[in-house]
Amino acid sequence: MSVPWFSHLVRPELATIEAYVPHAGRFDIRLDANESPQLLSADAHQRVTRALGSSGFNRYPDVNATELRQAIAEHTNSSVDEVLVGAGSDEVIAMLLGALDKPRTKSPRARIVTTTPTFVMYRLSAKVRGIDVVEVPLDAAWNLDVAGMKRAIEFGEPNIIFLATPNNPTGTCMAEDRVRQVIEAAPEALVVLDEAYVAFANTSVAHLRHAYPNVALLGTISKIGFAALRVGWLIGASDLVRELNKVRQPYNIPLPCQRAATLVLRELQDDVRRLVTHVVTERERMTQELQQLGFGVTPSQTNFVWVETKRPATEVFDGLAANGILVRSFAKQGGRLANRLRVTVGTQNENDRFLETVARFA
Ligand SMILES: *Cc1c(COP(=O)(O)O)cnc(C)c1O
Repeated sequence: MSVPWFSHLVRPELATIEAYVPHAGRFDIRLDANESPQLLSADAHQRVTRALGSSGFNRYPDVNATELRQAIAEHTNSSVDEVLVGAGSDEVIAMLLGALDKPRTKSPRARIVTTTPTFVMYRLSAKVRGIDVVEVPLDAAWNLDVAGMKRAIEFGEPNIIFLATPNNPTGTCMAEDRVRQVIEAAPEALVVLDEAYVAFANTSVAHLRHAYPNVALLGTISKIGFAALRVGWLIGASDLVRELNKVRQPYNIPLPCQRAATLVLRELQDDVRRLVTHVVTERERMTQELQQLGFGVTPSQTNFVWVETKRPATEVFDGLAANGILVRSFAKQGGRLANRLRVTVGTQNENDRFLETVARFA
């Protein structure tokens, strides 16, 4: 490959990363991206469609997304000036990194601390901004290693600590007392608790926001049936939100998405509850059946299962793919992820087909 003319202009970190690309190709059953299955009632579907199709396309959308932020505030028991809204929590993560990136005392560059494995966007989004990333391995039970986190905080001096709980891809919640210890060890950093999967979990750490000034929460509607709308949020102190708002693109949420997401949060919560019940029931069934087949499955608090294969994970992945079923493999990452697959809970039918097929590769 020849060197492009603009290479002297490119941020050097880009050489170390690749664009986020979901697996290409056509698959009958996609259980790779933690989307929820399409289980909306016909009535709810029609109402979302109507909200998306409403008129007024010649004007810019509400710059403050006031209705939507009000709906998010009601949904999260916060006030509207504590809500920052983004095109998915991905954009909120980008805004955090864009605003809180002043180098601290030890390094010429800002730094974040997070766990490994975890959601890739913390790392990717930091790297493209020239922010250093320290990744602390989770312990053997995929829970927080407090001692490791404390060392990273002391020596790394992070600007932001990102913790996903429940975590992706492990499906585990971080123990609250450990989360507290991390927060208390880092009073000068912002600790971002990402609860993208909280709807499927039996615990939440959202209340820690009131116990500590340096905590903010992330939320999203992507995992509860509305990934296409690209609406996520941060809940934090109003002075933090005011600062973050300065790096937000003024019209970041398209009007149809503002309207539809407001409808989802205000009026479609029965549909969401029905979806969550389906997912949790199916998740437990998949866990049991996979365990009976001899796979290792970590108890999940999310809409996916974290599966340990006995054969090389790529063999199982390829076997499923050859049968039209796409899951996520972590084989490339090696180490203790070498034999791990992440499988999203789908419809009952999709899960049946997955279980039938994966049985041949147990
Ligand atoms: C899927 C996921 C998100 C999603 O973000 P959106 O941009 O809102 O779709 C955020 N955090 C975690 C941990 C996730 O797994």
